[in-house]
Amino acid sequence: MKKGKKLYEGKAKILYASPEKNLAIQHFKDDATAFNNQKKATIEGKGILNNRISEHILSNLNQIGIKNHLVKRINMREQLVKIVEIIPIEFIVRNIASGSLTKRLGIEEGTILSRPLIEYCLKNDDLGDPLISREHILTFDWLNIMELDWISEECRRINDFLQGMFRGVGIKLVDFKVEFGRSLQDDNIILADEISPDTCRLWDSATEKKLDKDIFRKNLGNLIDGYQEVLTRLGLQIN
Ligand code: 5GP
Repeated sequence: MKKGKKLYEGKAKILYASPEKNLAIQHFKDDATAFNNQKKATIEGKGILNNRISEHILSNLNQIGIKNHLVKRINMREQLVKIVEIIPIEFIVRNIASGSLTKRLGIEEGTILSRPLIEYCLKNDDLGDPLISREHILTFDWLNIMELDWISEECRRINDFLQGMFRGVGIKLVDFKVEFGRSLQDDNIILADEISPDTCRLWDSATEKKLDKDIFRKNLGNLIDGYQEVLTRLGLQIN
């Protein structure tokens, strides 16, 4: 499929125009960043693994009624997606305490939460993606209350599905981040972006070995080995 002009470039992906109305080509780069862009590297093959893993997850979510932007994977690095206007909020779901939650509240790493915790962060690199409350979202009209409740419920459904999927292959879903947007086609809110080891914390169930982007953030070894392990356990291949 012929790529058109670049519409948007983020830290890990580029969006290009496509020949089809309201659809774009999402290209997965090998670039890795952490700590609000302070740590950067290019990790050969990362984009290919994330493209395949995210395709698998989003197409499975579609099958259980979680509408999302994925139309189809086109090649090893690219997907055809519905163009959305991204809602400027990162929705984070946590099952086990890790990362910023442990630092912010002093909760011990690895603590199992009594119920899944949803957090909201403003998507703004200059401000370091600050944590915001439901009140901020409503006050600044980023979403109305029905939309916010609906997205929060979608997040819980996504969490239930992903937890089961990963548990079945010996992986603990510690936490993850998702983004939603309004489809240009019909203005409906749908899941967008990606769900991959770049956006989840995934620990081996038996050893708690990290299989996600924390390998890069914390210099824990070879990131590709971790992502490849996730791909293999999910029964996927690169083709
Ligand atoms: P934390 O708030 O602990 O840093 O992150 C919680 C979860 O959301 C982790 O799985 C992390 O990978 C994901 N996450 C939060 N913010 C971002 C972000 O800006 N980019 C990516 N790729 N993942 C994020």
